[in-house]
Amino acid sequence: MEPSFLSPEPCAAWARHEFFCSEETVTTAQTHCRQCGTCCRKGGPALHRDDLELIRQGHFSHHQLMTLRRGEPAFSPVDGRLEPTRRELVKINGHGREWVCLFFQPKTARCAIYAHRPLECRLLKCWAPEALLAVVEQDTITRRDLLNPNDPVLELIALHDQQCPAEAVAEAVADWRQKPDESRHRAALVDLVRRDLAVRHHALTEFGLPPAVEFFVFGRPLFKLLGGYGVTTSEAAGTVELRWPGE
Ligand code: SF4
Repeated sequence: MEPSFLSPEPCAAWARHEFFCSEETVTTAQTHCRQCGTCCRKGGPALHRDDLELIRQGHFSHHQLMTLRRGEPAFSPVDGRLEPTRRELVKINGHGREWVCLFFQPKTARCAIYAHRPLECRLLKCWAPEALLAVVEQDTITRRDLLNPNDPVLELIALHDQQCPAEAVAEAVADWRQKPDESRHRAALVDLVRRDLAVRHHALTEFGLPPAVEFFVFGRPLFKLLGGYGVTTSEAAGTVELRWPGE
C-alpha cells in the first residue's frame, strides 16, 4: 500500500553527522563559504518546521529522506561525540552506503537544490558555527509531520517502535559490552535485529510499502546501527550472528 504522504506528490533522511570542516580547512580569516563541500560530504541536514514548506513545494520528498529514531547513535555537533539522539529526527538521505548528502554533486561540489536548501544548510557557516548550533534539535520535525494522520503506515511505525525501539539497542549493547561472555546479552540483541527485519519484511511484502521510502518509515536497519557500535552482523540460512571485533 502506498502511504498517503502530505507532500504534493507522494514518493514524486546522524550515526555520523559532522557539520563542520576539519580544523585544517578553516582559517581564522575565513569569512565566506569556499564551496569545498566538506559539510555536504559529511551528511545531509536534519529537517525543521521551517523546511516543511520546501517539502510541500516538492523540492524534495519522502524517498529522499531518512529517519533517525530517538535513541539511535548519532554524532552530536554540540558535544562533538557519538551519542543517542534525544528525539526523533528526519534528515536528507545519503548517497548509497555513504553519508554524503544526496543532493551533493561531487563533480562540481555544488548543491542540486541550493536555492531551496534546508534551514541547517542555510545557517551553516563552518567559520562561525553559532547560528547552526543554536537550532540543533530545536523545532525539528518527525515522521508524523510528513504523514496524514489516518495513514495506515502509522500503525506499522508504532509496531516497529514497540517491537524494536532504538533505545533498547543501546542498552543491549552496553549490557553485552559489560559481560561479553553472557550469551543472553548477545541473544537479546539478535532478537531485536530479527524483530526489526520481520517488521520491514512484512511492510515491504504484505503491506506493499515502496522500498524507496523504507529508511524514511523505519530508519536504518538495526544491524546497520550495530555497525556504529563496532558489532558485525551476518545472516545465513535465516540465522543472525553478531560478533565483536576480533571474535
Ligand atoms: S542539501 Fe545541499 S547544501 Fe545541504 S548538505 Fe545537501 S548538498 Fe549540502
